[in-house]
Amino acid sequence: EKYVYDFSEGHKDLKELLGGKGANLAEMTRLGLPVPAGFTVTTEACRAYLATGSAPDELAGQIDSHLAALESTMGRHLGDPSDPLLVSVRSGAAFSMPGMMETVLNVGLNDASVAGLAAQAGGDERFAWDSYRRLVQMFGKTVCDVPGDDFSDALEEAKKTRGATNDLQLDAADLRALTERYKHIFAKHTGHEFPQEPQLQLRLAMEAVFRSWNAERAVLYRRQERIPADLGTAVNVVAMVFGNLGPDSGTGVAFTRDPATGAQGIYGDYLQNAQGEDVVAGIRNTVGLEELKELDHRSYDQLIEIMALLEGHYRDLCDIEFTIERGKLWMLQTRVGKRTAAAAFRIAAQLVTEGAIDLDEALLRVNGAQLAQLMFPRFDLAGEPAVLTSGIGASPGAAVGKVVFSAARATELAAAGEDVILVRRETNPEDLAGMIAAKGILTARGGKTSHAAVVARGMGRTCVCGADAVEISRDRFTVAGRTVAEGDVISIDGTSGRVYLGPVPVRPSEVVQYFEGEPVDSTLVEAVHTLMDHADERRRLAVRTNADTGADAARARRFGAEGIGLCRTEHMFLGDRKELVERLILAGADGDRKAALEALLPLQRADFVELFRAMDGRPVTVRLIDPPLHEFLPSLEELAVTVAVARERGEDHAEEAQLLDAVRRMHEQNPMLGLRGVRLGLVIPGLFAMQVRAIAQAAAQLAGEGLDPQPEIMVPLVGAVQELEMVRQECEHIVEEVISGTGVRVLIGTMIEVPRAALTAGQIAEAADFFSFGTNDLTQMGWGFSRDDVEGAFFWRYLELGIFGISPFESIDREGVGRLIRIATDEGRAVKPDLKIGVCGEHGGDPESVHFFHDVGLDYVSCSPFRVPVARLEAGRAAI
Ligand code: PEP
Ligand code: MG
Repeated sequence: EKYVYDFSEGHKDLKELLGGKGANLAEMTRLGLPVPAGFTVTTEACRAYLATGSAPDELAGQIDSHLAALESTMGRHLGDPSDPLLVSVRSGAAFSMPGMMETVLNVGLNDASVAGLAAQAGGDERFAWDSYRRLVQMFGKTVCDVPGDDFSDALEEAKKTRGATNDLQLDAADLRALTERYKHIFAKHTGHEFPQEPQLQLRLAMEAVFRSWNAERAVLYRRQERIPADLGTAVNVVAMVFGNLGPDSGTGVAFTRDPATGAQGIYGDYLQNAQGEDVVAGIRNTVGLEELKELDHRSYDQLIEIMALLEGHYRDLCDIEFTIERGKLWMLQTRVGKRTAAAAFRIAAQLVTEGAIDLDEALLRVNGAQLAQLMFPRFDLAGEPAVLTSGIGASPGAAVGKVVFSAARATELAAAGEDVILVRRETNPEDLAGMIAAKGILTARGGKTSHAAVVARGMGRTCVCGADAVEISRDRFTVAGRTVAEGDVISIDGTSGRVYLGPVPVRPSEVVQYFEGEPVDSTLVEAVHTLMDHADERRRLAVRTNADTGADAARARRFGAEGIGLCRTEHMFLGDRKELVERLILAGADGDRKAALEALLPLQRADFVELFRAMDGRPVTVRLIDPPLHEFLPSLEELAVTVAVARERGEDHAEEAQLLDAVRRMHEQNPMLGLRGVRLGLVIPGLFAMQVRAIAQAAAQLAGEGLDPQPEIMVPLVGAVQELEMVRQECEHIVEEVISGTGVRVLIGTMIEVPRAALTAGQIAEAADFFSFGTNDLTQMGWGFSRDDVEGAFFWRYLELGIFGISPFESIDREGVGRLIRIATDEGRAVKPDLKIGVCGEHGGDPESVHFFHDVGLDYVSCSPFRVPVARLEAGRAAI
């Protein structure tokens, strides 16, 4: 087994084996760029180490021979007392996990070789001792778990004794004393001396990097980013080059385009006389790359040349880490760089214009999540509002409101028409009402999977969590020396995680303006336009919308919807009409029921006329009424109290008592599993018939006006073919009677949202013109999770525990619920090869799920109007 690869042996496509860093170092080496010599120990060696607790037997020998080769390339021996080779030992997994794992620099230094290093550096003792103390510190922390604070405290103490404000002011003697102090700290914590043997240092550092794969923060990060837990990290052993050898040395980062906006150009920061971690630690201020041009023209020119070469080679934005050692440029890392959503779209479109990539590839470089981000309103930061503090952007959006500290206060102020931001240390299920009432939520604790984050995302509420500098007391919070009291206004940005004091103006999304058809002149909109066009050209899946009103349907159509996949007719029975439905459900006598139905018919007809008109020439799926009964009946508790009070007072309460009896009769413990959907239609005579008549009449009326209505009648909650057959028979009669001679064609189909329907789809297909997966209920009944309760109650915990990486109500559970979908699709089509099949649950607008529906071979997805562009984009990507 080959566990070690020289940089000259690998290439960029070996990421899984060599990690991203190792693969790209190898690629740069192959391109002939100035990369320090080195080798990579594979992720396979790491996996073996983690599985057994010790490195595979062959590893030591392979490392020895690669080290020997490295030594001969460099003309130095590791840790040689008179002229030492030093190496860095760096982690590098297949997926970038910034700052999650470990690195040890300057391996090979010890009490003897520190003098050799000073000699190499032209007698620079200060530099040599500074390097040695860094090794003891990093090795101590990383390899032996010595608390990092002990080292930084000692450094602070040394600076204080010296009256120094900056570590550059410590001289060689100070740093030598500090190194002794560090070694003492090391020995105290580990019970043994700092290891002097260079080969031992190397082996221990490498094993520590292996182990850092399972460090707590790395495990958490992977869970959040949905990176598999069993990949392991590679380890790169690289000859050290030094950016801290004086003013002609330094270290920096650079981007081939602006990762924030995507603008073409050269961006980066440089820090003179410093080593890598100094840049990240922000110890001194960096300067822009233009200044490097002044400082070291030759290195600058070479860097620019290399950047152009790398961009051309990777055909994408690259980010780069480099070091200049005494006027000589070294490339320490490159990768295809992370970028904002706007930059992703702009760069992809630019690269097409430049001829670097084609449209297919450009489409694969953006995604629906990025598009969704661009569709949120944003803060207008032109006034440069001061950032009060920042946390984790947990649920996107821009919210402005008065600070409140309790759910009760949030509800109270919101009811009075105020915009509020609920500020909590962390939230729990009792805060739910307050979270609903608030415009945004800010918490001091918790990450992307905390209760606050999960619930806010579920509700589409803006949320910043884990703003850990915020100290909350009962009616105020303090941060960075400022106090914010209840009622003060703050603004929170759920994308960047920033919190501002006072109101920040909110700007609508230009991408939404563009989808709305407004003229917008921007490079971002041009890029979005180009990529959306291409997605539409590529996609096989049609995209429809879920809409219950003409206005929603019209907007969705502007956003590109090709029909309505779900109109929830129960939404048409809220408000004034609720009473009519209540009368209908509770009607004792036929006469009462008939009267209620007759009153509802014209109202429903008008609803459908509006809808068919807005979607003229496109299919409109109208689902027959599916109300969980409890949403339409008066509350049992309240009614019982009213009756009791009236009785007590001796008032007449016959009518209320009768109603109470009826409600009691209909009361259900589990309404979502109760008298809903097709069951209601079969129990209440005339209800579905009224709706079907209204649909058919509306269609006939519009056909009479010369329009082209395309109604599809959908039966909800079917579990057995017999249910559908009975409804179908009744529908067909009415449809026939109303539309004959109008030229309108009406389809009758069913939702597949009860597991039994999925498992008997072959039978059900006999009675259906189409299927539409109701993945909300299919998930609810497939998992046995109450869709209305679980997100706030325990999903946050499930996510924390990693039982699933994302709520199955948000993204389709491929193995379980997805399997039901496959079975139903295959068995339905086996009976009726041209059966039209779509999906209308929330998953229809979820990027990951859209790819799954494409793979399964559905005909369309249907989602809320704002998700329509996201679904179009992802359907296009899925087809490539
Ligand atoms: C579903 O269950 O997925 C569905 C679309 O129906 P509803 O959400 O209205 O229950
Ligand atoms: Mg449903």
